[in-house]
Amino acid sequence: MADRRSVWAWGMESREPSHEHLRDAARNLSARYGLSLEAAKPTKSGSLSLRRPRLSIPKALGTLCSTDTYDRAFHAYGHSFRDRVRKFRGQYPNPPDAVAYPREEADVTTLLDWCSSKGYAAIPFGGGSSVVGGVEPPEGYSGIVTIDMARMDRVIEIDKTSRAARIQAGALGPQIESQLKPDGLTLRHFPQSFEFSTLGGWIATRSAGHYATNHTHIDDFLESARMITPAGAWETFRLPGSGAGPSADRLVLGSEGILGVITEAWVRVQAAPRHRAAASVMFRSLTSASDAARAIAQAKLWPANCRVLDEGESQAAAGMDGGHALLVIAFESADVPQVDLMRQAIAIARDAGGRVDESDIMLAGGEKDQAGRPGPASIWRQSFIDMPYTWNTLLGLGLINDTFETAITWDRWPDFDHRVRGAVQDALNRVCGGGTVTCRITHVYPDGPAPYYTFTGMGRPGSELEMWAEIKQAAGDAVNSAGGTITHHHAVGRDHRPWYDKERPDLFASALRATKKTLDPRGILNPGVLIDP
Ligand SMILES: Cc1cc2nc3c(=O)[nH]c(=O)nc-3n(C[C@H](O)[C@H](O)[C@H](O)COP(=O)(O)OP(=O)(O)OC[C@H]3O[C@@H](n4cnc5c(N)ncnc54)[C@H](O)[C@@H]3O)c2cc1C
Repeated sequence: MADRRSVWAWGMESREPSHEHLRDAARNLSARYGLSLEAAKPTKSGSLSLRRPRLSIPKALGTLCSTDTYDRAFHAYGHSFRDRVRKFRGQYPNPPDAVAYPREEADVTTLLDWCSSKGYAAIPFGGGSSVVGGVEPPEGYSGIVTIDMARMDRVIEIDKTSRAARIQAGALGPQIESQLKPDGLTLRHFPQSFEFSTLGGWIATRSAGHYATNHTHIDDFLESARMITPAGAWETFRLPGSGAGPSADRLVLGSEGILGVITEAWVRVQAAPRHRAAASVMFRSLTSASDAARAIAQAKLWPANCRVLDEGESQAAAGMDGGHALLVIAFESADVPQVDLMRQAIAIARDAGGRVDESDIMLAGGEKDQAGRPGPASIWRQSFIDMPYTWNTLLGLGLINDTFETAITWDRWPDFDHRVRGAVQDALNRVCGGGTVTCRITHVYPDGPAPYYTFTGMGRPGSELEMWAEIKQAAGDAVNSAGGTITHHHAVGRDHRPWYDKERPDLFASALRATKKTLDPRGILNPGVLIDP
């Protein structure tokens, strides 16, 4: 059988860890941490039995829609901790009744007309990498149709003069890059989910790439967008910039599937970089490393990557001693040598107390070094993109292991970090009898950092989801009360609603509801995400 996406693990079925592999992981972790972990068995797609589809598919839509068990199970969840646990256990109480695969815009219109006329919930679906319940079907609908954009995956047109490309929304990260490559171009938007997330999903969630200090969010790349709504098509002008009233593109960005189905977009592309420089600088503490990152950002050197790992993260990711924080800096350009910029960044980092050996500074080179081996930038990016595969092996061991991210202005840092970390550690102590919280700063702006936290604790078998919910609540409350956003890039979905509702102005919610009523009068599109149905 052809390889296909795993119903429970990150990646394809061919990369699912075997039960033996999970048992090895359990043995190794038990030995390392003095635990007695046991590996449960994941539920395979072949053994699933789902609720019968509650709708019948009109003849005209027969070639677009599937009611196959695998298709419905695969589209029932995204990839949050809660989703992964339920997929692993084979818990599917509310799967979509049908999954539709439109081939062109006209199909999207027909599908939305069908859902509107029947009152079925319609869920736009890109790569399914949502970690906030963004693609999970809502309760209370007599039918649920998930609209998977996978068949609309082409780069349709390239404008080399303006350096822009028109790309269909269902194209995954690697499909975009491989179609741009023959023209020497690249989008260079690398969220960690790059392999299995789409342009449409990125726009709908305002995703953030890594290797991305100057161009971070997909917002920075969007030139114009096209979206099919139940009320008709929405298309904006292609412009390098515009001051004409509130931006129509800004309403598409972050719309999370509640206003329409994004079908294609013009995005800004660039020439593939040839000049690179990279370095890692060691610090005595997270605070001094983040002081250096702030100074580099405020000097407007615009490194392509400027991330800070705290003591725990630098130990786990870079094999350091657990007593030092790490600042990772990288520059890249298609045209301009990056040596001077890197030298200036290193000087700033040293002034802030950083230590770096000359041998740890790479001042030239491209994606490959002179011997044809991958350079540090591509090694880093590949290991970063491979990381979710290692999380597959932690499933079924009873561990509670999740991440959350936010952003805050510098004047409230590092106090913000102490408050958030303290609240999550207290919750871990209370709920799990202990655990770890680590932090890295994934994005740095002149006015503030975007910290990304990882927490791990031991769950009681069968109670992991309730225990996780208590810790997640503590984390969300701490971030919100300390003034941070509930998400810098993971989106709102259904899971972040309680805190998003506090963060956004009430009048904005009313305006968003009014917009939705205009574009989606029957309220069928992704109900429960961002605002109430
Ligand atoms: C391992 C892992 C790492 C991640 N790393 C990052 C990261 O580095 N940066 C980051 O920003 N995010 C990250 N995420 C979160 C996630 O990948 C992003 O939110 C991503 O943008 C979702 O894209 P997708 O195509 O998978 O969308 P989906 O998960 O399929 O959908 C997400 C939301 O967008 C809507 N949507 C999808 N396609 C369309 C469309 N064509 N039209 C209208 N609405 C649509 C859906 O209805 C849903 O609300 C990560 C997730 C995982 C699992």
